[in-house]
Amino acid sequence: MSRLQAEHLRLALAGKPILNGIDATFHSGEVVAILGANGAGKSTLLACLTGLRTPDEGAVSLDGAQLAQIPSRLRARRLGFIPQTPEIAWGLEVRALVGLGRTPWLGARGLGAQDEAAVERALSAADLHPLSARDVTTLSGGERARVLIARALAGEPDWLLADEPLAGLDPRHQLDAADLFRRMAHERGCGVIVTLHDLTLAARLADRILVLGSGRVLADGTPQAALTPEVLAMAYGVEAKIRDTPQGFSVEILGRWG
Ligand code: ADP
Ligand code: MG
Repeated sequence: MSRLQAEHLRLALAGKPILNGIDATFHSGEVVAILGANGAGKSTLLACLTGLRTPDEGAVSLDGAQLAQIPSRLRARRLGFIPQTPEIAWGLEVRALVGLGRTPWLGARGLGAQDEAAVERALSAADLHPLSARDVTTLSGGERARVLIARALAGEPDWLLADEPLAGLDPRHQLDAADLFRRMAHERGCGVIVTLHDLTLAARLADRILVLGSGRVLADGTPQAALTPEVLAMAYGVEAKIRDTPQGFSVEILGRWG
């Protein structure tokens, strides 16, 4: 069992407080969705949880060790990250780009048989074999999003932190990716943390939901406990109705709140 913990995180950017004292503990084996309005600080929180940003106050620890004290190569092996606005500037083949996910494991000799096998598994998991020889710059946004998921999977991290990984995907690939994240957590024991905006998909994907607003945690609990009309009014300024469905429940936005 692995544990990633944020304690009393505070961070201001350009003089504006973004994280206002965030406490959150994540456990391996569970999928946590982080929700919140645009600008709520979701990406900033993920950046702190991966060590890409250092908070002004507070700290993040992985299994009791401060993130800042863990050597970067080891951190990169354990924490896989999928950024929100991926820049893929160079014309690489899909397979080669996915192979970059092995970087934290490589010795001087480049990709070995074990690395190649991990790349193959990642390509299969993200349904990318038909595209594996394509130049990534020629792919659609949703196809690229799947390549970035595969790149993170190729590194076989203990933790997968993904910033809006489902945003550009068509409905079928959204469900496939959601199932993949759930299998990573429930079958492989990974800790999975994703940010997203689709509330119904979040309820279906996540074991636990954390809702951010004004740099604070507005709700942290099961989808049923966290996604209430009151929380959604606070977080997004909308009036919402929660409906039970055979798959769990769905969230219908009725209009602006107030
Ligand atoms: P979210 O991912 O929830 O949409 P972000 O974490 O990206 O929100 O951003 C939170 C807030 O911080 C936003 O208001 C954004 O404009 C601001 N912000 C993010 N990065 C910077 C930066 N480098 N300098 C100044 N403000 C920033
Ligand atoms: Mg963001």
